[in-house]
Amino acid sequence: MTGSSHAHYEAIASRLVMPSRALIGGRWQSATKGELFETVNPATGEVLATVAHCSAADVDSAVIAARRSVREGVWSRSAPEFRKEILLRLADTIAQHAEELAVLESLDSGKPIRDCLKEIGEEVPNCFRWYAELIDKSFGKVAPTGEHVLAMIVKEPVGVVGLVLPWNFPLLMAAWKMAPALAAGCSVIVKPAEQTSLSALRLGELAVEAGIPDGVLSIVPGLGETTGAAIGRHPDIDAVSFTGSTEIGRVFLRYASDSNLKTIGLEMGGKSPFIVLDDAEISDDLVESAVMSAFWNGGQNCSANMRQIVSAKVHDDFLHAVVERARGIVIGHSLDPETEMGPLVSAEHKENVCRFLDIGRKEGARTVLDLADQGRRGSYLGPTVFTDLSPDMRIAGEEIFGPVLGVLKVNALDEAIRVANDSDYGLHATVYTRDIDAALHVAKRLECGTVAVNGFTEGDMKTPFGGYKQSGSLARDKGTEALDQYLRSKTIWITSGADRLG
Ligand code: NAD
Ligand code: MG
Repeated sequence: MTGSSHAHYEAIASRLVMPSRALIGGRWQSATKGELFETVNPATGEVLATVAHCSAADVDSAVIAARRSVREGVWSRSAPEFRKEILLRLADTIAQHAEELAVLESLDSGKPIRDCLKEIGEEVPNCFRWYAELIDKSFGKVAPTGEHVLAMIVKEPVGVVGLVLPWNFPLLMAAWKMAPALAAGCSVIVKPAEQTSLSALRLGELAVEAGIPDGVLSIVPGLGETTGAAIGRHPDIDAVSFTGSTEIGRVFLRYASDSNLKTIGLEMGGKSPFIVLDDAEISDDLVESAVMSAFWNGGQNCSANMRQIVSAKVHDDFLHAVVERARGIVIGHSLDPETEMGPLVSAEHKENVCRFLDIGRKEGARTVLDLADQGRRGSYLGPTVFTDLSPDMRIAGEEIFGPVLGVLKVNALDEAIRVANDSDYGLHATVYTRDIDAALHVAKRLECGTVAVNGFTEGDMKTPFGGYKQSGSLARDKGTEALDQYLRSKTIWITSGADRLG
């Protein structure tokens, strides 16, 4: 697959049929009011497709169908083997259609085809397989009691769940939420981000093919303030899992408190640190990690390590090597397999990121790499590296969500930890050191959900992912922990009259 050429992916693109309708209660339909919105290819600025813009009435129809499916138990009370078989089939179907899905997503989001192929060809099917396999291996508990009592703690699906998704990893984030929610036995209503609805809609077609019963999966494309809000405010949705900005995460908590107190799982922004201690060797591996942790996906990654906190002893060597590697990032057409960085997701988002470039300069940060202007059509923005940052600058504290890296110099281990923790966010951190004691000390002191030591990683399917502070809530994606977002416990206490039997 990876050996294929740009022309190969262009040929697939030319044959694509753009999905445009919503999946509601097992039927593909237009929005009730006939409303549409446009989705754009950020590499060209051209409209790629027009998509149904679901209203509150459409969301309500999806909820009614979902509730009916929960009450009838077609999925929620089905045999574990049944759900497992269908989710495994879905995983296989996605893998078979990976190239087509990857091209669709690459066109819609600007993500490089090589990243889309890896995510959709490997990680997305793996996610569905992992949760499918978990279904018949998860058990409730029996509490210790006196002889004539049976106290069972059983796990039941939460019920109807809304999944509100971001645009930066469209299908992967859909999988991270859909797979555990469906494995738990919930009926789900998925709202993809308006910038990138197409791959989720195509996934819906594949899910229907794989045999997901009607009403168990609805896909309602639309804008945040209409479709997203209708999910947040709906009185008969039991839980919402959201990934996106901290600002909208806050809004979802308000929706819940103003409606039915639905459970809200949040995975939000970040400004994650990459810490280099004074004993670290500035190796190729470290430099590759530093650059990829910042510029992977054009920096549009909630766990991007955008505050690189570097010991004064190795600072200059580090900065030189990082700038040289970042200069070599291959920027190009999203469908070219050589491309490491495509356009940002939209022209509007590019403008937001550019505003931070001005802010950084005004705040007195020094630019050591400025490849922002690519002189291309479309929302391309190359890497920028700022140094001489102080922790109180806006560019050091605020999430930019674009290819803008800031480097801060520190003199001591304690100072590195203090600067790293001096943030409203707490999603991820990387630390490089050859000293195992220092590694463990720093890892334990950092206020964040994932710490990577001597290599940038977010972990794999087995490990939970989520934030501390304003990056998240108690809910976690991935791992067995993700299932907990979609299950609730019920105590069944049976008092037996068996004592009459002696
Ligand atoms: P966003 O938070 O506005 O959107 C995320 C999802 O929420 C989308 O599906 C959107 O339609 C929906 N939404 C938006 N407004 C809503 C509302 N009022 N009610 C209900 N739903 C609503 O994110 P964005 O606009 O796509 O990006 C803005 C910023 O968010 C980015 O610059 C970045 O800082 C951050 N972001 C973070 C992540 C992440 O992975 N944590 C992902 C995308 C964006
Ligand atoms: Mg788009």
